[in-house]
Amino acid sequence: MAELAWIALGSNLGDRAGYLAAARAALAALPDTALVGASAVEETAPLEGKAQPAYLNQMVLLETALEPRALLHACQEIERAAGRSRGEHWGSRTLDLDIVRYGERVIAEPDLVIPHPGLPRRDFWRRELAELSSHGR
Ligand code: ATP
Ligand code: CA
Ligand code: CA
Repeated sequence: MAELAWIALGSNLGDRAGYLAAARAALAALPDTALVGASAVEETAPLEGKAQPAYLNQMVLLETALEPRALLHACQEIERAAGRSRGEHWGSRTLDLDIVRYGERVIAEPDLVIPHPGLPRRDFWRRELAELSSHGR
């Protein structure tokens, strides 16, 4: 059965809008998955005052039959395809895909926490969730 999953897209290196567009296309092309909503793209300052270029952010809503862990792996594959290198935590990146919510599920594993623990502190995520709320929340 398909569930709703909210994915946060972020890019602060290179062709930021192009990476977000490629991510939307790649997410929409995942098996048993449809992209059913997308927030506006918003520019935000780097987290915690890091000396980095500004981010472009967007949230998309998927309807998917992929389980959360399969979805995480798919997101990491899409990040790699966008040329992301894993360096410093919160370092600059071509593409970052975070699973913000997955249905009503609560998951707390070492490498997968849902809802994403950054949610209470990231006002732009909460705005984007509100923007997508007509799609089923
Ligand atoms: P933040 O998660 O605070 O936004 P970040 O996105 O920069 O920081 P990453 O380096 O992209 O962090 O990811 C670190 C790890 O977070 C990943 O290896 C992944 O296993 C883990 N992780 C845990 N929960 C989630 C989630 N809900 N969505 C995506 N990754 C997650
Ligand atoms: Ca992130
Ligand atoms: Ca991430």
